[in-house]
Amino acid sequence: KSTAKYRKDNQSLQLPIYKHKAKLVQAVKESTFLVVTGETGSGKTTQLPQYLCQAGFCKNGKICITQPRRVAAITVAQRVAHEMQCTLGREVGYQVRFDDCTTQDTELKYMTDGCLLREVLADPGLSHYSVVVLDEVHERSLNTDILLGLLKKVFSNPTEAMKGRAFPLKVVVMSATMETDKLSAFLGDCPVFAIPGRTFPVTCTLGTAVGPKDLQSTGYVKEVVSLALDVHTSEKAGDILVFLTGQLEIERACDLLFEKAESIDYRYDVQDKTVDGLLILPLYGSMPTEQQRQIFQPPPPGIRKCVVATNIAATSLTINGIKYIIDSGFVKQLNHNSRVGMDILEVVPISKSEALQRAGRAGRTSAGKCFRIYTKEFWEECMPEYTIPEIQRTSLTAVVLTLKCLGVHDVIRFPYLDPPEERFILEALKQLYQFDAIDRFGRVTRLGELMVEFPLQPGLTRALLKAASHGCQDLLLSVAAMLSVENIFIRPGHPDKQKEADQSHRALAANSGGVNDFGTLLSVFQQCKSSERPSAWCKDNWIHWRALKSAFSVETQLRDILLRLRDFPVEKFDGNKNELFRRCLCTGYFTNVARRSVGKVFCTMDGHGSMVHIHPSSSLFDKEMELDWILFHDVLVTSRVYVRTVCPIRYEWVKDLLPKLHEVDVYELSSVARE
Ligand code: ADP
Ligand code: MG
Repeated sequence: KSTAKYRKDNQSLQLPIYKHKAKLVQAVKESTFLVVTGETGSGKTTQLPQYLCQAGFCKNGKICITQPRRVAAITVAQRVAHEMQCTLGREVGYQVRFDDCTTQDTELKYMTDGCLLREVLADPGLSHYSVVVLDEVHERSLNTDILLGLLKKVFSNPTEAMKGRAFPLKVVVMSATMETDKLSAFLGDCPVFAIPGRTFPVTCTLGTAVGPKDLQSTGYVKEVVSLALDVHTSEKAGDILVFLTGQLEIERACDLLFEKAESIDYRYDVQDKTVDGLLILPLYGSMPTEQQRQIFQPPPPGIRKCVVATNIAATSLTINGIKYIIDSGFVKQLNHNSRVGMDILEVVPISKSEALQRAGRAGRTSAGKCFRIYTKEFWEECMPEYTIPEIQRTSLTAVVLTLKCLGVHDVIRFPYLDPPEERFILEALKQLYQFDAIDRFGRVTRLGELMVEFPLQPGLTRALLKAASHGCQDLLLSVAAMLSVENIFIRPGHPDKQKEADQSHRALAANSGGVNDFGTLLSVFQQCKSSERPSAWCKDNWIHWRALKSAFSVETQLRDILLRLRDFPVEKFDGNKNELFRRCLCTGYFTNVARRSVGKVFCTMDGHGSMVHIHPSSSLFDKEMELDWILFHDVLVTSRVYVRTVCPIRYEWVKDLLPKLHEVDVYELSSVARE
């Protein structure tokens, strides 16, 4: 144990932040707001909270540290618990949506920004905390931006700030790259503490594989793989970090790498140091934490590590020993798509500042190299200078409801670090009105107050509450849980296995009584839950057991929220359960309704009139000609617009709901919003 402690201390004592420990603690003591900046990897996230705890800040309350990404919150908490030699969940814990690993004793709480926002709803004065650390502010996630505005609003005013508190709250805002002047000015010219850090030069080269015409192709995975192998066979020792966009792509790249690296004839000398095998490690959001831990371990002697990651490795997590970067130039991003009027997870070119950040990962401890697979034209024509803050590109519906419930009536003049376009705010108000969450005067309704309690998207919550009012919440609870976890259907890489899995999934769909993707989710949930050996059942049916286990837990948590609320109107319904189920879905998804127009093409009814196709993963794919009206959960845009998770409906069920999409006058709502 003592050697472990020595090793740990030795490592954390070498981080750039360590020399500034005393001054940092002093700076936090001296003012309400403090901005801290420093290169990624300097020790902000893992060390600063420990310093504050050692300095006695935990005596007055907990310290919370927000992260925009759920994996980061979990991984960092694990790391800090390890450094402090305590059990995760005791002194150091984490809380992310549907997974709370904290206890009464928790002093350092790493949590997602979304979770802290929910806590503000229950306790606007944040009375349990002595320090709130907003971390990774440069990422400009929607929830972090809103928290910044709220904290500024409440805690800039000394008397307001002490309401319901025994001691003043400290707010520390940490950022890797963002212009600190802007942050400091926003927070009333608060002090800035910059942690000086040394970085080493990174040589960047552009490639030929991706040009302005390749925005839609995913051929770059092959290119990335061959570059990684080139680096492996011709460059000096040092680990490789590859940036791709998501799980499927990463798994494919790892499979390819594995195949090809196997066939390399090892035993050659690369300049001064022998490099033998290649250790290939994927890193993405939804992978098991056990596997994630491996990423941080140094590779065995003579072996080169190659981490294939999403953007999470750009700033949230720092892997030591990286000397080579391979940059695909793409990222998965949630964007509001005005063509279909919905938020869509899209693969888009990264910004130039993002590209610099990625390259910088190779220069932490010595000079490094960054290989970009895209051309100069791609850099110049397709990549924006900066990444647009999430608040300016995604739906604000949930956030606006939260603000309204916090008593922020004027959501247009809220202190935004960068205000979203007014039409996005109006769009959110309109949606809330359509869901009956606010009234014509922009005031939160009883239903709105109930809706805000659920960590789900508003439409899904609306459907769930409708079901609850009919006493059939069981159906929607399971569906909501299934839609809140990662993909549950296994897609094997091998074509034969793929066929087998497809067959099995089709059988599950057919079993669910009338083909309907929501029904399939429900049926998978119920069948697995009632099976004697659920994990074996999953294996037999090509279902991810881990995902289903989470779904079970999520369902219980949603049920608890519902039980706590209880007080909602009860409506009677005479009809069969299947119809009731689909009618409840209509109440939440009438904004996502489409009618078949010609052939297999459907036309959405939300005023956008987009032409959409049913995605091949749906059990209704190839049955289009038998359908008339459908509703859908989400949309995927490639060369076509696809809808996924589809349910056939009848026009009568949405007849009274659809006019709502056009009835509301946004100007009326906006004049109220500006009051
Ligand atoms: P910053 O927040 O300034 O970017 P961090 O506090 O995240 O810096 O990281 C500081 C150091 O801790 C880095 O060298 C990083 O590699 C190391 N580190 C962070 N998490 C882990 C982990 N889970 N395992 C091993 N090392 C880690
Ligand atoms: Mg950090």
